[in-house]
Amino acid sequence: MTAIADSIKVHLPDGSIKEFPAGTTPHDVALSISPRLAAAAVVARIRPIAVDNHQAASDTPSESGEATPEASMYSAGEANAERLVDLSTPLAEDVSLQLLTEKDGDALKVVRHSAAHVMATAVLELYPETKLGHGPATDAGFFYDFYRPTPFIPEDLKAIEARMAEVVARNEPFVREWESRDQSLARFKASNDFMKAHFVERFTKPGEEISFYRNGAFEDFCRGPHVPSTGRVKSFKVTNLAGAYWLGDEDNPQLQRIYGTAFFSSKEMDQHFARLEEAQRRDHRVLGKQLDLFSIQEVAGAGLIFWHPKGAMVRKIMEEWMRDECLKRGYSLVYTPHVARVHLWQISGHEGFYAQNMFTPMELDDADYRMKPMNCPFHILIYKNSPKSYRDLPVRYAELGNVYRYERSGTMHGLLRVRGFTQDDAHIFCEPAQIEDEIVGCIEFAQVVLNTFGFTEFKVELSTWDPKDRKNYAGSDENWKLAINSLENALARKAIPYKTIRGEAAFYGPKIDIKLVDVLGRLWQLSTVQFDFNMPARFEMEYVGEDGERHQPVMVHRALYGSVERFFGVLIEHYAGAFPLWLAPVQAGIVPISERHLNYAEKIQATLQNAGLRVEVDHRNEKMGAKIRDFTLQKLPYILVVGDKEAETGGISLRVRGQGDQGAMPLEEFVTRARSLVDSKSTSL
Ligand SMILES: [Zn+2]
Ligand SMILES: [Zn+2]
Repeated sequence: MTAIADSIKVHLPDGSIKEFPAGTTPHDVALSISPRLAAAAVVARIRPIAVDNHQAASDTPSESGEATPEASMYSAGEANAERLVDLSTPLAEDVSLQLLTEKDGDALKVVRHSAAHVMATAVLELYPETKLGHGPATDAGFFYDFYRPTPFIPEDLKAIEARMAEVVARNEPFVREWESRDQSLARFKASNDFMKAHFVERFTKPGEEISFYRNGAFEDFCRGPHVPSTGRVKSFKVTNLAGAYWLGDEDNPQLQRIYGTAFFSSKEMDQHFARLEEAQRRDHRVLGKQLDLFSIQEVAGAGLIFWHPKGAMVRKIMEEWMRDECLKRGYSLVYTPHVARVHLWQISGHEGFYAQNMFTPMELDDADYRMKPMNCPFHILIYKNSPKSYRDLPVRYAELGNVYRYERSGTMHGLLRVRGFTQDDAHIFCEPAQIEDEIVGCIEFAQVVLNTFGFTEFKVELSTWDPKDRKNYAGSDENWKLAINSLENALARKAIPYKTIRGEAAFYGPKIDIKLVDVLGRLWQLSTVQFDFNMPARFEMEYVGEDGERHQPVMVHRALYGSVERFFGVLIEHYAGAFPLWLAPVQAGIVPISERHLNYAEKIQATLQNAGLRVEVDHRNEKMGAKIRDFTLQKLPYILVVGDKEAETGGISLRVRGQGDQGAMPLEEFVTRARSLVDSKSTSL
């Protein structure tokens, strides 16, 4: 601990430096700037100046720590790291300080976590026998885990929400207090607060002082930060209730997790729920059934996808497009088996690092076999089957390979989380000097994929290793540095902004993840480009260099759809099932006005099919209106109505999705129009 100075320097975002007495709070600093800012501020972000590390903000791991919310809630943070603090925190040293208002996403998280305290306050007031777990903010709101001998029922949520409004109206300040670890442990144990006692034991060290936050009579073990008072939790809603076992273990007591959300204004909250409703309307599982695209069959097993004819048509188009693009870019297409001997997975390292994600082995008469979770070792075997020289490199093998991964039952979700899926997988083997160009090529290819399928916005993340967690990564330190450098250089060359995520790399190397942004602004992880120096070593891969010596190639794994199933799910939701014309399983539906126009309808169908268009005729003896309605519900891009007039002139009457009745049109003109949209893969219809 450094000696406490009499005065401190506060560096503000505009570059100015102000001097204050030690013990000044961020709230005081805000007041000295303007009372309006002091009223608008939610929380402060500080970074001690003494040990100033100049790492860009994008280089620091995310503050929220979603993976271990408990740790970020309870453990003491690193003293010198940038962090969020209460506006009432006395400042004891020189800091750079930023006052966060409603505009800052981190401020919203603080409001949401404070709302979790408000909810726990309400629950204890209504049901004092309840024991508290923990209550972090999440991306969409917050939750709190409770244990109560009489489980909550959905009807309780209204009462909890109403009581929360009272807690907010009381506008109780959130006050931070400290207590010795031994004292709080004894207290928690005496009151049978088993979860709080666990968190103290797990996330604090003997001898430490423990941080609590109190509002009114309620207190919670927490390191904060919080908004200044409960009154700052302005718009909130308790949304739902779910069961969860304590520490995820089925032998432990069952907890109840109550979810809610909070916003700075009711307008933002209304928009949030409107977006949720829109997302539900677009749910690919609902549309998949309505449009007869795919199914999952209980009798066959969870997470296994059945592609129905219409879904299979979209898949055929996606796959053919992908194969053609690969060929254009110098890839070779390969096919490999679905299973292999366990021995192969031992060589590849999957048995050691990835076994928990694989289907259990099958015993055959000659050996144990496992379903493949990845295609990589197979592509390596093809490479190794003949000697390679530097002239052969880069070798690029592409396959739409079916892989199987074990997901726990109950975790599957439509097309998005499955046990069997198709990777548009490719592996590039090259000389170290070629690696950057290859990675740039992959990134460019990924951009073409996203643009072709109608996504204009995407976000890029570079996942690197966490050297502190050494045992989970294969390969030498030098190799990791080299690999991370080449990925960074490739991104820099394409001038692509990205965020570095530490500790998210695969066990065999760092990777670039490309997340697309869909029409609702949701992020989807699809494309990934991974560097690997580990497998070539494990498989003793070689090529003869220009120097006549044997060298080891480096390897890139890349998947651009990621999973064909998942990409299809995202497409369904992005387009709400109204696929662009070039992807639509049925592009035009023909409606004969009455039975005597069937012949003409079939003639038109044949002409359009010859022009390469996918067309259906409604043969039913139904009213014209009903036929049009049904094709409309199937979200067909075109509906062609044919009757006496059309048969006489050799034309059609055209309806366009979203644009209504376009009137009569000569058939040739329609074909030209449709073909040009299909050929250009337009997403305008
Ligand atoms: Zn808290
Ligand atoms: Zn691979």
